[in-house]
Amino acid sequence: MARVLFINGGSEGHINPTIGVVQELISRGEEVVYFCIEAYRERMEETGAIVRTFDGQKLIKAFISGGRNYVLERINGLLLTADIVIPSVLEQIKGEHFDYIIHDSMFGCGRILAHMLKLPAINSCTSFAQTEASFVSMLEQFHTSVPAEIAKPISDTFQSLTEKVKEKYHVEIHSPYEVFCNPAPLTIVYTTREFQPDGEAFDHSYQFVGPSLSSRTNQKDFDLTPIQGKSLIYISLGTVFNQAIDFYKLCFEALGDTEHTIVMSIGDKVHISDLGEIPQNFIVKNYVPQTDVLQHAKLFITHGGMNSAHEGLYYGVPLLVIPQSADQPIIAEQVSKVGAGITLRMQGVTVQQLREAADHVLSDSSYKKAAACMQQSFQESGGYVQAVDEILEYISQH
Ligand code: UDP
Repeated sequence: MARVLFINGGSEGHINPTIGVVQELISRGEEVVYFCIEAYRERMEETGAIVRTFDGQKLIKAFISGGRNYVLERINGLLLTADIVIPSVLEQIKGEHFDYIIHDSMFGCGRILAHMLKLPAINSCTSFAQTEASFVSMLEQFHTSVPAEIAKPISDTFQSLTEKVKEKYHVEIHSPYEVFCNPAPLTIVYTTREFQPDGEAFDHSYQFVGPSLSSRTNQKDFDLTPIQGKSLIYISLGTVFNQAIDFYKLCFEALGDTEHTIVMSIGDKVHISDLGEIPQNFIVKNYVPQTDVLQHAKLFITHGGMNSAHEGLYYGVPLLVIPQSADQPIIAEQVSKVGAGITLRMQGVTVQQLREAADHVLSDSSYKKAAACMQQSFQESGGYVQAVDEILEYISQH
């Protein structure tokens, strides 16, 4: 039995694909100590992991204080989380032995911790992977398109933060890429190589295992009976960029009193009572068992988060993607590319556009067909079982 240190952060999209991986590791005899924020303690404890937490409020505050407008600001935000995560992890594992570390590709300062603890490292990538070359060219765009008076202070902050990390934690950071993608000798990517943009550009240190879906028991209080056998549309903007009262009201106007039954998950930042009168064919909740609901859906109106897109397609549901931020526009592009849905711009979207787009995806069978192809390739991929095969093989070579 090996002892595994698993470092994750504080967002549901980065946590959910790891549930099956942790469960599988434990079923094969590994002991897993899992770090995340308190909100995910119960979910992760159910896997059999030993869960330890760091301060979620402080983590988010530090991350956001780096700035939100440019990728280099978000990278600075990630560096600012080092002082929240690293001392807390070190304190809580004092005197313990670990055989290897698995860390999130973005949150939790995994690469720094791996170097400090001198552990073989595996990177857990819950979005599309990025090659260093494509990352560098993205950053070049930042430097060429953003005026120097804005870009320079952001670059200077990056330099001073990396110097501080070196001074405090004795780990060298060579590039923004190392902070944003936390490269490791093995990266597990929870999608297929076919769905990954430029999938052939990745060498064998990247293992594309396909979506890692496992049953989640945190969602017991939703009655599925009223949606069974109905023409069901499911709407969700995910768990992060979901504060969108106007959009939710627009959905009422576009799809209220139609032949469809609509389940709409609005997240925990909006009160259901703020939405005014709810049409009879809508079921509105702050949170729903998404993977269960999707199994009854004909259409998923989604923000295009990586997990949501995977989960929809895993059950063969065509997507109407309305990207909000982050990696979502790229995911929307891939969905369109494989023909399993279309994209609508959030900005300025009208009732008529939304209604027509939904009707279009529902009535043109090519979207359903393409979603069924994706369903087959996702369900045939190895998911968390393959992820653990790859992890154990890599570790056995060390
Ligand atoms: N989710 C859920 N119920 C909800 C809303 C979201 O179970 O009502 C889950 C969803 O199944 C997915 C995750 O939350 O696994 C959201 O991750 P995603 O990457 O799609 O988006 P994010 O929340 O990170 O923007």
